[in-house]
Amino acid sequence: MVRDHKSKNRSRKRGESGISQDKSFDMEAWQPKTEIGKKVKKGEIVSIDEVLDRGQRILEAGIVDALLPDLQADLIEVGQSKGKFGGGKSSIWRQTQKKSKEGNKPSFGTVAVVGDGNGYVGIGRGKAKETVPAREKATRQAKLNLIKIKRGCGSWECGCGMAHSIPFKVEGKCGSVRVVLSPAAKGTKLCAEKECQKILKMAGLKDVYAKSFGQTKTKLNLVYACFEAVKKLATMKVSEKDVKRAGIVGGRNE
Ligand SMILES: [Zn+2]
Repeated sequence: MVRDHKSKNRSRKRGESGISQDKSFDMEAWQPKTEIGKKVKKGEIVSIDEVLDRGQRILEAGIVDALLPDLQADLIEVGQSKGKFGGGKSSIWRQTQKKSKEGNKPSFGTVAVVGDGNGYVGIGRGKAKETVPAREKATRQAKLNLIKIKRGCGSWECGCGMAHSIPFKVEGKCGSVRVVLSPAAKGTKLCAEKECQKILKMAGLKDVYAKSFGQTKTKLNLVYACFEAVKKLATMKVSEKDVKRAGIVGGRNE
């Protein structure tokens, strides 16, 4: 009994980068609140595709934890620190102050990205008075926004028919920022702004050209525009011919 307890504690260790990865999602202890959650717990739904392919909304993070146990989480630098030398260094936190009778109340906002590095990705925002709950909120929100993308090789220079890139050009907008993602040949890697790279990597994309337009200094708009573009890889209909030509794979590439 004692040994059991110990090993449980060990598995709750934080990830290398300080990101909490709750590896020990406890199926037994999980009390699902939604219809889909209850079916997952009963074992009636065994794949996240059964939820996503029907266009059903995920309303509790436990569904994702249970069905995609290798999901990873990271935070995106969307803020700027107010450092000594005028600040300006990018930070994962967007700090705001709210004036009240008791004085200034700081609040922290952040954006999390989750993905399994194999076709599933989501981003979400979280805001709270302290950093830890803000991060947890953002991560939970990112799980609820999970999408399944189509990968493939739409690069005419490459034409390898494998799922290392995207099958076609997609674009997304948020505020004044527009992001265009194009297929790239094998070995190109992710030619994208650092914060966009995190999203593409989490989605399992290896070679993509990204171009951004507008006020790209507004990182929040930039990452949301990038996610909007990635979302098109989830929703766009493809023909049987395209599937063959570009080797399109939806979700996991096994
Ligand atoms: Zn290729």
